[in-house]
Amino acid sequence: MFPAKNWREYNHRYRFEASKCKKCNHIEFPSRIICPKCKGRDFEVVDLPQEGKIVTYTIQYVPPVGFEDLSPYVVAIVELTNGVRVTTQIADCTVDEIKNVSRVVMEIRKIREDGESGIIAYGYKFVPQNK
Ligand SMILES: [Zn+2]
Repeated sequence: MFPAKNWREYNHRYRFEASKCKKCNHIEFPSRIICPKCKGRDFEVVDLPQEGKIVTYTIQYVPPVGFEDLSPYVVAIVELTNGVRVTTQIADCTVDEIKNVSRVVMEIRKIREDGESGIIAYGYKFVPQNK
């Protein structure tokens, strides 16, 4: 059984799905109830491309609780091939290596392990394309 929070995020974290506004075709990720462009409320589910390029990144030296083991790690804004931008961790990449990375691809990876329950949450991360 999924904890409530994991269940709610299932579609965008595991299946990399976004919402496309039926009125103005804007694609929003993660999904929202109201389109930020036209205030429309009718959406269809679309799959996002699994490749993109790094627009900008930052190094996380002081991670949130539960992510201490990963520090330091890279968090980037990735522009997918359809123009949608996502905030994501860049895995398999050191702080030095990120300077030379531009193309990245999506992979489903372990995000965190909940201490008490021992439940392992998976979700999307991006890794350098030519690695
Ligand atoms: Zn819209």
